[in-house]
Amino acid sequence: MEHLVSQLRERQLLIVLDNFEHLLAAAPVVTELLRETSALRILVSSRSSLRVSGEQECPVPPLAVPDPRPAATAAELAACESVRLFAERAAAVVPGFRIDDENAPVIADIARRLDGLPLAIELAAARVKVLPPARVLPGRRPAGDLLPDARPPVAADAALRGRPGQRAAHRPVTVSDPTWLATFRCHRRSASAYRRGRVLLAGDAVHIHTPAGGQGMNTGIIDAHNLGWKLALVAAGRAPDTLLDSYGAERGPVAADVLRLTHTLVRYGTMTHPVKRRVRDVTVPALGRTAVIQRRAARRLSQVYVAYPPGPLVRPDRAGGTPRAGQRVPDREVRAGSRVTTLHSVLRSGRHVLLVPAAHAAGLRADPALWPYRADVDVVTCDGGTGPVVLVRPDGHAAARGTPGSMEAIAGYLRDLFAGGDNVCHGA
Ligand SMILES: Cc1cc2nc3c(=O)[nH]c(=O)nc-3n(C[C@H](O)[C@H](O)[C@H](O)COP(=O)(O)OP(=O)(O)OC[C@H]3O[C@@H](n4cnc5c(N)ncnc54)[C@H](O)[C@@H]3O)c2cc1C
Repeated sequence: MEHLVSQLRERQLLIVLDNFEHLLAAAPVVTELLRETSALRILVSSRSSLRVSGEQECPVPPLAVPDPRPAATAAELAACESVRLFAERAAAVVPGFRIDDENAPVIADIARRLDGLPLAIELAAARVKVLPPARVLPGRRPAGDLLPDARPPVAADAALRGRPGQRAAHRPVTVSDPTWLATFRCHRRSASAYRRGRVLLAGDAVHIHTPAGGQGMNTGIIDAHNLGWKLALVAAGRAPDTLLDSYGAERGPVAADVLRLTHTLVRYGTMTHPVKRRVRDVTVPALGRTAVIQRRAARRLSQVYVAYPPGPLVRPDRAGGTPRAGQRVPDREVRAGSRVTTLHSVLRSGRHVLLVPAAHAAGLRADPALWPYRADVDVVTCDGGTGPVVLVRPDGHAAARGTPGSMEAIAGYLRDLFAGGDNVCHGA
């Protein structure tokens, strides 16, 4: 928070916080930001007010909807703002779309059923690209008509109630008048390769799994981070094309692990055996309250535990301490020249960073093994006693470690990485 305030204190900025009703517990953060800064404005969209000092509420009412009068003409209905919005958005996807005597009552009905909510109307209108207005909202026709894999309401009701033999195990739920029905399937799939020549896959394109554990976006972003710096070096002619093969080699096992985890979570979440469910319902909440499990779960789900195995881009050594080669290097305060900053800020340059304990700085300056790579590596110092020098990859993982006079692992990594580039710069 201190860092955030120091960055925002004097700046003239507008921060937009959308859907804040999900984050009301964070309202004191908004208060603190406003108190500690001079020119900051915060625009919040929320279904509940924040109840913080200085708050100015601006209620945004839904659009007016037409009265349910059967005799209203198309022109009268088209004058209503919710119907007009539907027509405008529909025309954006179906050129020439107009309100006429036939579709006007249907659109008026849609606007009423969506309570005049602009976003809902826009989403419904976008569907006229593939469906006539009479079918854009389920319920006007049997829901099974709407999607190929939708089921009629009675099937959903039966599914949610459970099969007769299972009813005693879980409380029956009755759903009526559904507005949307679709089948949800848990996939567990991955592509057979991350790379074919100049085609590289990342994110859901290469691995998909259930949303349990919230891992998909995380995994995809880390894929991109792992690939991005390698692509940049190869595209600039600074490293050989084979560097791109390390992308799948490093990320494939991580994705396989994520697929296993998410599948296991779903298996536990959906188990049907009553005794197993009971054991789960008692043990999981109890374990979840222990600090050690919470720490482990946080490391696992945030994926900061990921460590890449030894290979050309991870040079292990026998010394103790962390971070070991392959592990993610946590952020810390560092000095870049005379500037105090953080390791992860320096890594944003997309280059390798040599993290040098201040005590080693003088010895390292004279090390000729690193001279050829001055243009590729940013050097920062940190307070770290006489701990190892760590070469950090642009994606934040430790590549290799060393100490002054014993920099073979680091020099070897840099030599092999840059050796095959078309345009290796050996420094002047
Ligand atoms: C219900 C649910 C909850 C989730 N919750 C979480 C969570 O809490 N945490 C988490 O980390 N992950 C979560 N995920 C997973 C996460 O949403 C995905 O893993 C992530 O969005 C994948 O990003 P992506 O960029 O790889 O693919 P996408 O987000 O699918 O992006 C691919 C894009 O490509 C576009 N596209 C497709 N084909 C074409 C084409 N031919 N031409 C042009 N564009 C095209 C698509 O329209 C889309 O915009 C959840 C997923 C679901 C379904």
